[in-house]
Amino acid sequence: MAGNFYTVRCSDCENEQTVFGKAATEVACAVCGTTLARPTGGKAEIEHEITDTVESR
Ligand SMILES: [Zn+2]
Repeated sequence: MAGNFYTVRCSDCENEQTVFGKAATEVACAVCGTTLARPTGGKAEIEHEITDTVESR
């Protein structure tokens, strides 16, 4: 498995945004700038509610 994409809902503004499960950099909400995910050495730590998971092929 190459890695998943997650649909994450920002808990601050409820914007939904797709985040790569192995993001190497911090991912900020495109609307309010809140950090949605931060890298933890390989696998991103999602700090907000994950509403959907999309497996890449
Ligand atoms: Zn937001």
